[in-house]
Amino acid sequence: MKKIKYCSSCLMPDTKPYISFNEAGVCNACINTNKKKNIKFGIDWTTRKKEFDKIISWSKSQNAPYYDAMVPVSGGKDSITQVHRLLGKGLRILAVNVDYGIKTEIGKYNLDRIPLMGANLIIFRPELTLHKHLIRLGLEEYGDPDLLSHTLLHAYPLHIASKLQIPLCLLGENSAFEYGGDENLASSSEITRDWFDNYAANKGMTAKVISKKYNIPYKNLWQYDFPDEIQKNSKIKAVFCSAFFPWDSNEHLQIAKKYGFKELKKSGEGTYRKFVGIDELINRLHQYIKVLKFGYGRATEHACEDIK
Ligand SMILES: [Zn+2]
Repeated sequence: MKKIKYCSSCLMPDTKPYISFNEAGVCNACINTNKKKNIKFGIDWTTRKKEFDKIISWSKSQNAPYYDAMVPVSGGKDSITQVHRLLGKGLRILAVNVDYGIKTEIGKYNLDRIPLMGANLIIFRPELTLHKHLIRLGLEEYGDPDLLSHTLLHAYPLHIASKLQIPLCLLGENSAFEYGGDENLASSSEITRDWFDNYAANKGMTAKVISKKYNIPYKNLWQYDFPDEIQKNSKIKAVFCSAFFPWDSNEHLQIAKKYGFKELKKSGEGTYRKFVGIDELINRLHQYIKVLKFGYGRATEHACEDIK
């Protein structure tokens, strides 16, 4: 049996997808964290913030017909922070939430904070005969019930932005950078087809592949797929918030709380944090399967973040 190797700086095992180690045995996520913190060759966040302000001015100058900015939201602390980054700049903001029927009460409560913050909110509910079928397929064939839900959450808000000609889409974190991954994709500030196929979809299991393999007409699956016009249209910029502001769970929690975000009274199953993955019921199953597949769970991930 192969012995599991662990990062010499955090607790992450080498079973984690996309992880790699340098000569000193430090994982790519830890290396990126040091860049974030400005330790040697670090990121200059002051310049990044100026770039962000430039993008805001650019989006306003587009004189878009309906909204100036779109934010995909779950109602979690991170998406509340994304909305927060856009407030007070005179933008018309549209938040888009995808709800496939498994939202927790606390998740619903937190999502209700979004309109109170000053953003419009659309809640999209996909039809569930197909979506349940996709959840089952993901679970039985790939051990991942969220396989297609994840692509839907990423893709649908971008489709809305494209149709409504919204110039700025403020996405969450670039997971290739934050949690380790392909270097080219990790350094990108904008979402691309390549990024989507690898990080929104699970290693290329895109709507097109699923459509072919399981005989589901693509015309029913388009909303699960990346809208290529986002990448081609120079009038739309879809950028990661984490490219302009350090992505920090604990800071996001403090920001979200200012808007009334509630955390659990007791920590949930599988971790000691009270404010992560609390919006949706399926999260527990997803985390449990991760333990079976990779030999680590949510508590390890959170401990790694806290070490960093
Ligand atoms: Zn590490």
